[in-house]
Amino acid sequence: MTHQAPLNAMLAALLAFATPLLAAEPDRPVAIAIHAGAGTINRDDLSEQLEAEIRAKLEEAARAGHRVLSNGGTALDAVTTAVTLLEDAPYFNAGRGAVFNAEGQNELDASIMDGATLNAGAVAGVHNVRNPVLLARKVMTDSVHVMLVGSGAEAFAREQGLRFEEDAYFHTERRWEQLMKARAGANETARTGPTPEPWLSTVGAVARDGSGNLAAATSTGGMTNKRWGRVGDVPVIGAGTYADNASCAVSATGHGEFFIRATVARDICARMEYTGVSLQEAADQVVMHKLVDMGGSGGIIAVDPQGEVSLTFNSPGMYRASVNADGEVFVGIYKDE
Ligand code: ASP
Repeated sequence: MTHQAPLNAMLAALLAFATPLLAAEPDRPVAIAIHAGAGTINRDDLSEQLEAEIRAKLEEAARAGHRVLSNGGTALDAVTTAVTLLEDAPYFNAGRGAVFNAEGQNELDASIMDGATLNAGAVAGVHNVRNPVLLARKVMTDSVHVMLVGSGAEAFAREQGLRFEEDAYFHTERRWEQLMKARAGANETARTGPTPEPWLSTVGAVARDGSGNLAAATSTGGMTNKRWGRVGDVPVIGAGTYADNASCAVSATGHGEFFIRATVARDICARMEYTGVSLQEAADQVVMHKLVDMGGSGGIIAVDPQGEVSLTFNSPGMYRASVNADGEVFVGIYKDE
């Protein structure tokens, strides 16, 4: 009995101390959004079978990333998981299934950013690296640099023990045919300048984890028939990818040259930070007005510190999926969904 009383008093004191802390514990919603490219995606373009397979893959990627978050994982791990899965799928223009450049090669770009620290990693123009997003992450965590390109990036990938694949692994017939078509229309392109192909299909993910940290990652083969050495918006931090816990995390897809010139991802975050507009307002201002006025087509996915998700695009369609802060799953392709 003599020991019991102080013990009870201690427990009561501990409870009195902890209860307000528990009550003050913020609501900790986790949320994730993914995309697999924006463009002119018409209902007639996709067979029923292909559409079903694509929808299933989009949902699988969003759910895989969400599972990481609901098991207490970080936003960085969630976006890495989702983008890796999309890179491995042959349907999208990233990793396996990437588009071909004018030389008939797959030249890959990727980036990742941590909203908690503003650390970032990016790679551009790499060949045969199975998962460029994993290489971008290694650049962020295991080098003193932010961006590595070409053979230097590939040498770093080898040092880091990342997986390489033969050319045949990345090759899909559909992308090869797209290159043949683009080559046939090359004279036209030379006169009018490059036009975005109907299916851009870059992939990306943004997430908000249980600690309130944000992250974004994006991966692409770029644009069909691009000149070798061309680098798009995807690995350019602030253009195709940006994450800052103070505002939002963004991953973009679209005609990269415009996204670089408009610094799309950072501009959305900056508008939130400097003008106090909501995520959706900022996304609308940049994607539906600024980009449209410039003639740049495409879209973004984004998440803010409250777990609000934005899926905003000015093109007829965008492959997209999300699991919002209420745990609701959404998968969409066309504008009217
Ligand atoms: N933004 C990518 C690029 O220009 C293309 C895409 O979104 O599919 O490289």
